[in-house]
Order: sequence, then structure tokens, then C-alpha cells
Amino acid sequence: MSLPRFIVPPGALSGRTAVVSGPSLHHFHVRRLRSGRTIILSDGSGLQRHGVIVSIDRHRAIVELRDEAAPERESPLRLVLAQALLKKDKLEWAIEKATELGATEIVVFASQRTVRRASSGRTDRWHRIARSAAQQSQRSTVPAITGPVLYSEVTSRHSEDLPLLFSERGNATRLAAVQQLRPRASSILAVVGPEGGFDRDEVGHALAAGFHAVGLGPRILRAETAAVAAVTLCQFLWGDLQAPAP
Ligand code: SAH
Repeated sequence: MSLPRFIVPPGALSGRTAVVSGPSLHHFHVRRLRSGRTIILSDGSGLQRHGVIVSIDRHRAIVELRDEAAPERESPLRLVLAQALLKKDKLEWAIEKATELGATEIVVFASQRTVRRASSGRTDRWHRIARSAAQQSQRSTVPAITGPVLYSEVTSRHSEDLPLLFSERGNATRLAAVQQLRPRASSILAVVGPEGGFDRDEVGHALAAGFHAVGLGPRILRAETAAVAAVTLCQFLWGDLQAPAP
């Protein structure tokens, strides 16, 4: 679990202690923070420090300031990319890029048209790629990578509140229309097919399971390009792609 973060006025983090009052103090009370809790205070200008609450009452909290904290780079959106198995280098590229773009988890799956030479069972290598991409992007968490699982497990066993199937067929909805319908979704499952695409039954199965079939425009993208576009757009519409650099 990441530490709770709060904003304090500019200059409040220069000494050994910070006094928190006003709206930030209100948030302390809402989150039932007590003496002894470690938190992160940010002054809004890029400085963030760890702190320990030493006293708290209705009027103020006194926080003993500790070392500087790494800036928050994790998206508030829980974004799971489910990617069909692809040829080795394509899948590895998709894992690397999805990690840079802030995916929370990547699930690899096998489907009807999975290519014969698809790379399966390389979980250790996928983990290493995700770890080094996360490090490169200065993320504080490394996305979990699971699979390969069956396509039916992806559609039936997920727990995200907005499941999306990326489909190049004409009947797909515009992503912006889904965003208008569900502007506050906080967890998304984005499913991207294999090189040969999904077959009709697979699309039907997902729709029956409550997925929205969504498109990425009129051009057919390679699967790994579609994965990057899907993660980028979800992060833009529901996540933090528009947030300023910390
Ligand atoms: N059906 C094609 C292409 C498959 S593209 C063929 O037979 O060759 C591989 C995957 O990328 C698709 O399953 C889909 O998930 C995604 N994709 C590619 N272009 C897309 C688009 N324009 N809109 C939505 N998804 C797309």
C-alpha cells in the first residue's frame, strides 16, 4: 500500500516540522489518521517529504518531517492490459511500452487465432522486461505479469469495473462515447487480440460477458501498436496522462 499523500502550502516543508490545518487537516480526519502514522506531504512545487504525525486535534496536526519522498508517478487508474500471445519480440515490446505508460498489470492469453510461433511460458523474461521498464520510467511499482491463460478466463474472471475489448470490426463503439457513459471508472480491463484478430465467437462471448467493443479508428493496427494505443487512450481518458510532471 502506498502512503497517503497530502498537499501543504508552498514553503511548509522547509523546516523540521510542518503544521497542517484547513482542508488538508480535514482530509487527515476523514482518513482517520492518528499520531504515529507516516504520510507524504507535497508542497505543490515538486518537493515531497515523508513525515510522521506527532500530534493531531481539531485545529491542527504537527508533522515531524523526514527525508524527501519520490514523486508519485503511479496512475490513479487501475489499468489491466490483457494481450493475446504474439511473436516473442512483439509481445516483449508491448510489455515494455505498456509498463512505461503506467499499466498496473499485464495478462497474456491464448486465443483461437494465436499464431503458432507465439512465445509462451517466458514469464521470467516478461517480469525482467517489466521491471527494467518500470525502473526506466521511475515507477514505484512493477506491473504484475500473469499468464498465459485462456481467453475464456480473461473474459470470465476479471474484477475490473470497465471491461473493454479492442476490435477492428465496424461495430465497435467510440472510446470517447464509453468515457461519457462511464466517466468515473477507476479500473479498466483492456483486451487486445492476436496478430490474426479475434474470431466472431470470441467477440460475441465478450459482449455477452458485459464488455464494450471499442475501436481505435479506421486503420488496422498491428496488435502491439493497438496495445500501446489502447493503454495510452485509457490513461488519457480515465487516468493521468494529462497530469503535470510531479
Ligand atoms: N483482423 C485482422 C487484424 C488483427 S489486428 C487480421 O485478420 O489480420 C490485432 C488486434 O489489434 C485486434 O484483435 C484488435 O484487438 C487490435 N486492433 C487492431 N486495429 C484495431 C482498430 N482499428 N481498432 C480496435 N482494435 C484494433
